[in-house]
Amino acid sequence: MNVLVINAGSSSLKYQLLNPETEQVLAKGLCERIGIDGKFTYKADGKQAIKAADVAMPTHSEAIKAVLDALVDAENGVVGSMKEIDAVGHRVVHGGEKFAQSVLITDEVMAAIEECNPLAPLHNPANIIGIKACQELMPGTPMVAVFDTAFHQTMPEVAYTYALPYEYYENDKVRRYGFHGTSHKYVSGRAAAMLGKKPEELKLVSCHLGNGSSVTAVDCGKSVDTSMGFTPLAGLPMGTRCGDIDAGIMEYLMKKYDMNISEMLNVLNKKSGVQGISGVSSDFRDLEAAKGEGNHRAELALDSFHYSVKKLIGSYAAAMGGVDAVIFTAGVGENGIGDRAEIVKGLEFMGIKLDAEKNKVRGEETVISADDSAVKILLIPTNEELMIAQDTAALCR
Ligand code: ADP
Repeated sequence: MNVLVINAGSSSLKYQLLNPETEQVLAKGLCERIGIDGKFTYKADGKQAIKAADVAMPTHSEAIKAVLDALVDAENGVVGSMKEIDAVGHRVVHGGEKFAQSVLITDEVMAAIEECNPLAPLHNPANIIGIKACQELMPGTPMVAVFDTAFHQTMPEVAYTYALPYEYYENDKVRRYGFHGTSHKYVSGRAAAMLGKKPEELKLVSCHLGNGSSVTAVDCGKSVDTSMGFTPLAGLPMGTRCGDIDAGIMEYLMKKYDMNISEMLNVLNKKSGVQGISGVSSDFRDLEAAKGEGNHRAELALDSFHYSVKKLIGSYAAAMGGVDAVIFTAGVGENGIGDRAEIVKGLEFMGIKLDAEKNKVRGEETVISADDSAVKILLIPTNEELMIAQDTAALCR
C-alpha cells in the first residue's frame, strides 16, 4: 500500500509517498512560495532529484498537481499511475475536543475541522486548503486527517483545565490541548517496542525538543499531561517562542511600549525563547558555538532551556507517580549530545543516570542510560510522516 502524506502550510507544503508496512519512503519533497511564485523540490531514491525548480503555484492545487506529476513521471517518478496511490494522510494541526483519533475525511469531518479554525487560525485553514486541493485532483482516493492534538485528548480534566472562570471552558473551549501529538505517540510506541513491554506497562516522559518543543507524560500508552497548552506558545522556552510566562508581563510591556496585542504576540512568538534571551540565534548549534566563545547570554539561553526541560521531567514523574523511561526526540533531542547531558544532570536521585559514552550518538534509535540506571533514557528519532501513513493505512484497509 502506498500512502501520500501531506503537511500543508499557508505558503508551503511538505509531502512524502511511503509504504507504511515496509516503511520505505518512495519519494519526498517540498512545495514553497505557494501563492507567490512557486518552488518545487523532489527527491526519490535512484532518480534525478529536482531542487527548488520554478513551478507556478498560484494556489495549493497547482502545488499538489506538481507533486502528482512528479510521482507518476515516466523518468523520475516512482509509481506507474495515480491508481498506485492508495490513500492520502493529511496532517491537521487542531482537532479540538472533537477528534481523539485520526479519521477518514467525510463532508461532516471537513465541517468539524473548519469549526476548529478559530483555535488554530494560522494552521487549520491551510490544512483544509490542502485537503480540498487533493480531493479535487484525486477524487475517489480515501483521505484521512491526522491531528496534532488527538493524542492528548486522553488528558484528565485536572491536567487540561485552566484556572480561569469555568465559562471560558464551557462556552469558548479554552483549555489545554497540547500539540506534537503525532510525534509523542510515535516515539512512545517505539519506546515500548525497544523495552520489550506493552504500552500499558510503562510510564514515559517524552521530550520533543526541536524548533518548537514540548514534553508529554505518557502513562499506560496515553498522554496524561503535556507542556503546550491552548496554543503552541506555552510550556518550554523554544527557538523563538517564550513558553510559559506571567500573563501580567503583557500588560506591563504593552503599556510601556505602546504595543497592541498583535505586536505583543509577535514578540512572544517570534522574538523570544532562546533567540530572545541570547540575541544570537534560535538555532542550538549557533548557541553552542557562541557559548564556546564566552557569550554569556547564549549560555544563559541554553541553561534556561535545559532547566525548563529538567523541571518538566521531574513534575511529570510526580504526576504519574514514577517514570520508567525518558525519551529524547526531534532536532535538539536527537542531535544535542550536550543538551541531553545537561538536561538529565542532577536527576540521578530519581534513578536517571546517563552513560556519557553511549550518549555520543545522533539520530539513532538507542538506549543512552547507564546499565545501572533505574530509569532508561532513550534516543528515538521521530517520524511523524510514518505515523500519519500508518494511521491512514489502518483506516483505509
Ligand atoms: P522543527 O520544530 O522545525 O521540526 P526540528 O525538530 O527539525 O525543528 O529541530 C530543529 C532544531 O534542531 C534546530 O533549530 C537546531 O537548533 C537543532 N539541531 C539540529 N542539529 C543539531 C545539532 N547537531 N546539535 C544541536 N542541535 C541541533
